[in-house]
Amino acid sequence: MNCLFCRIIDRKVPSKIVYEDEHVLAFEDINPQAPVHTLVIPKKHIATPLDITDEDNELIGRMYQVANKIARDRNVAERGFRVVMNCNREAGQSVFHIHLHVLGGRPLYWPPG
Ligand code: AMP
Ligand code: ZN
Repeated sequence: MNCLFCRIIDRKVPSKIVYEDEHVLAFEDINPQAPVHTLVIPKKHIATPLDITDEDNELIGRMYQVANKIARDRNVAERGFRVVMNCNREAGQSVFHIHLHVLGGRPLYWPPG
């Protein structure tokens, strides 16, 4: 599978992993946009949010729970943090294996650029 994040799951590409269970992996973004910038991915390859199906409902919930854990562990939960999933080109999706961006540790502006 020629997918960067599948290769990270398989340890064929190195990454700084901060959480792993049977279904979900989290690792530090290589180009952080905030003091906390961690990516949460399913181990199942799903190309874009548009490809999420009923079968994935529990998996997506698990991903948000991992995002919460990261926010708490990094002490940004109470201050505030943002969880973002980009979809397709105009939103800036560049890796076609869904991922939550967990961003925090600085004020995050709205609307996003
Ligand atoms: P998106 O643009 O929403 O698809 O997000 C992709 C994210 O993956 C970007 O924030 C990149 O900085 C990040 N990224 C790309 N390659 C790697 C890598 N090898 N390890 C960790 N993060 C990566
Ligand atoms: Zn993949």
